[in-house]
Formats: sequence, structure tokens, C-alpha cells
Amino acid sequence: MHMPKNIKVKPHKLEGVYIGNNKFLLTKNLVKGQKVYTERIFKSKGEEYREWIPFRSKLASAIKKGLKTWPFKKGTIVLYLGIASGTTASHISDIIGEEGIIFGVEFAPRVLRELMFVAKKRKNIVPILADANQPETYQHIVVQSDVIYQDVAQPHQVEIFLKNLRFFAKPNAIGFLAVKARSIDVTKDPKVIFREVERKLREAKLQLLESIRLDPYHKDHMMFVVKVPK
Ligand code: SAM
Repeated sequence: MHMPKNIKVKPHKLEGVYIGNNKFLLTKNLVKGQKVYTERIFKSKGEEYREWIPFRSKLASAIKKGLKTWPFKKGTIVLYLGIASGTTASHISDIIGEEGIIFGVEFAPRVLRELMFVAKKRKNIVPILADANQPETYQHIVVQSDVIYQDVAQPHQVEIFLKNLRFFAKPNAIGFLAVKARSIDVTKDPKVIFREVERKLREAKLQLLESIRLDPYHKDHMMFVVKVPK
């Protein structure tokens, strides 16, 4: 690895998130010297930071678009559905630290294998090979969680989300649902699809805190943020 460049770092208003050179998002690297994807690594005042790229991570793009709800801090318990090879999860892992934990559900074995290399270094990620549509198959591993984060790009993503909230959400838990309109229905206008998702979330008695369009970082995607009742 090249010697990381020294830059100016200041805290973002969201806990555990930083801004480098007044431009890009960063998190403090939990595993020094280790990259997870194509992100750059920087140094400031003896600390190491990883760039958090909004084009690669929907959560980072939501931050760029003004996300306000922020349940992530040291010790947070997260259930992550559709964790893939851990791009976004690695930044959550930086933020929640060793006291926190991410249960990462992924149904593609080849992708999960890549996550295994990440989880070997990051002890707060627990990879689970399972279908997020069948929470009963991982009920014995996952505990009640503070945050349920879902990014599965599937036609029945809202139903999958609601099912997992019923199984694993603590009272007052926060849910993040990243919706890709085209994976629900390629023929419909994304606006119509997003309205339909919103209706289903409200019908399930969830409090809709935010809905954020992720364009231009992720085309026709919306991040819904909900709060589970007590
Ligand atoms: N969230 C990741 C990130 O930001 O680093 C990217 C996730 S990618 C868009 C969607 C992932 O969800 C894929 O890896 C796919 O295999 C997985 N997936 C889709 N349907 C699933 C299901 N029913 N159960 C578990 N994983 C699923």
C-alpha cells in the first residue's frame, strides 16, 4: 500500500462520519492499513480514515443528500439484509466499533465468500448465508436489533423488510429501506412505485421519518427511513 496522504479532517454532523478537505466523506478505519473496496485511505493527526464513496454506497449517498436520522454510534446492533461484499457495511463497522455488531444476511454464496475476508479482519461483522425472505432460518443467530438496513433490489423488497422488522426490530428501532424502482417494476414510473412503497410502510404502522431520492448517485433509487413503534 502507498503511504496514506495527510489531509484536513473535520467531523460531519452525523456521529462517526468525517469530512476530508471540505469535500469527501470519511470514516475512521477500524482496521488500520486495510482497504475494503476501491476507497482511498488518508491520514490526519495520527488517525487513519477511509473515503466513503457515495456512488458505491447508498447510505453515503443519502448522507450527501441530507439524511438526518442517524442511529449509528459505538455499540449499535445492526441487521443488514443484502450485505453483499460489505462495501457499505464496512463503514458502518467503522462507526459502531468493536462494541457494536452487524448481522449480515446475503443469499449469493460467491458474494458472501468475499465478505468472509472482510469479516475475518472486522470482528463486528457476522456473515449469514440465508434468504432475507425467510427470517425464521436465521432467527437462532440474530438478536433484537437497533437498526434494520435493507438493500436487496428484489420485487418483494417491502414485504421482506416488514417481515424482518417483525422478527428483529427492538421497540423504537430505525429501519432503512433502499428501494430500486426498476427491480420492483421496470415498466412503471419510479414516482408511482415510491408512492406505493410509502403507502405500504404507513399501512404497517411505521412512522416514515425521511424519504430521500438518491439521484444522481443511484438512479431511480429512494432511501426510506422509518421508526418502529414502541
Ligand atoms: N448493500 C450493499 C452495499 O451497499 O455494499 C450492496 C447490495 S446489492 C445492491 C444487493 C445484494 O442483495 C446482492 O448481493 C444480492 O445477492 C443480495 N440479495 C438479493 N436478494 C436477497 C435475498 N432475498 N436475501 C439475501 N440477499 C439478497
